[in-house]
Amino acid sequence: MLERSASRIALCALAVAAIGLPLAAEPNILLVSIDTLRADRLSSYGYERNTTPHIDDLLARGVRFSDARTVEPLTAPALASMLTSLPPHEHGASRNGLRMRAKLVSFAKILGRRGYSTAAFVGNWTLQDRLTGLGEHFETYSSVLNRKRWLGMVKSEATAEDLNERAIEWLDEHLEGERRKPFLLWVHYVEPHGPYELHSSMLEQLGIDFATEVEAADRYDTEVAWVDARTGELIDSVFERVARQETLVVFVADHGESLGDHGYWGHGRHSYDASLRIPMGLVWEGRIEPGVRAEPALITDLARTLLSAAGLESPEFFQGFDWLPVLDGDDAPPADRTMLFQAHKGTVLGKEDATKARQKGLLEVARIVGQRKEVLRVPKGRRQVYDLGEDPAETDNLASGELSPELASWLEEVVRGLELADDLPPPSLSDADMEAMRALGYID
Ligand SMILES: [Zn+2]
Repeated sequence: MLERSASRIALCALAVAAIGLPLAAEPNILLVSIDTLRADRLSSYGYERNTTPHIDDLLARGVRFSDARTVEPLTAPALASMLTSLPPHEHGASRNGLRMRAKLVSFAKILGRRGYSTAAFVGNWTLQDRLTGLGEHFETYSSVLNRKRWLGMVKSEATAEDLNERAIEWLDEHLEGERRKPFLLWVHYVEPHGPYELHSSMLEQLGIDFATEVEAADRYDTEVAWVDARTGELIDSVFERVARQETLVVFVADHGESLGDHGYWGHGRHSYDASLRIPMGLVWEGRIEPGVRAEPALITDLARTLLSAAGLESPEFFQGFDWLPVLDGDDAPPADRTMLFQAHKGTVLGKEDATKARQKGLLEVARIVGQRKEVLRVPKGRRQVYDLGEDPAETDNLASGELSPELASWLEEVVRGLELADDLPPPSLSDADMEAMRALGYID
């Protein structure tokens, strides 16, 4: 044990020397992600309702990214990208129900190999190991599925309370047994994913009158407020057990939600900012100066940034941007950083051919540089261009002329990646899977 620990420290020292950072102790990492949490529905991101007092309080203690985006607005693809830093056409899980490539490198796997205890507790049906391949990235990977969704027959989800219980149980066991090892603990809450449940206990906090009719978007807000309270409870429970200075908290959503914008409810099929933009923050008291970063950030930046925080260098092929040196005063990525996105159909249908399911799933590719966003609806060849500075709601399509060579080349790259998917395992969805996917809105 001692020998392993000593060699780990030596390796970390080498990695730290290589990137010129001061030697920092390896922090515990608590990663909290919330499904379908639209950025502009958090109070700290400008929403007029008091939806997220606990998350706001957390983010105020660290750095909050005010212009962060996911790379595909769908659960399994986005979270596989978060872990591996790769875009969906490279990791292979471009739709729910399609497994990612085996033996990929992720920040979780690297931390595990460098002596971290790693565990994940996820509450969305689509994230089960057999459907995603995410399990190999953690020592403990647990999809907690103990509740029925509405009137469905299948127990397809857990509440945030269930997940907190399981995560803290794991943490207590870890601290009893291997207190000296740092941990990576990932908790993924499914609320406020549709169908939106009404949490009437949250109406008063939100200032919603009981007497008026509660609309779908109001129910969504009650889900946000409810999961915000559970997030606060998890954070408090963790900090009753470990010191704040020894623990980096990462907060993020996998994607947003359309909530009726552009005539669409849900997420996944379009690359409008309502679904791409996410809340994101890093909190490490005594190490990361609190503040707001307005430069463009991506969910795929987390892999490099978290390894950097652990004093480890990322593999060269890791994509994304390491924010830790920026938070120490280095230059941020430029405001005209090129960001590339893709949108696919929600879920595969039963036992489809994997390659065909990938290829026919591609719906959109998009590119943002500065305030300019260009989108191509692939099946129809329809092009959209928006000035996000003037028109953040993306209602005024400025497209004229031809597809830009840059977006054409991104389309080509994505299509080629989907064609090269032959080595990936076939999807295998049972009837229960199909019922759960339907309940989650992934099948029309
Ligand atoms: Zn999701």
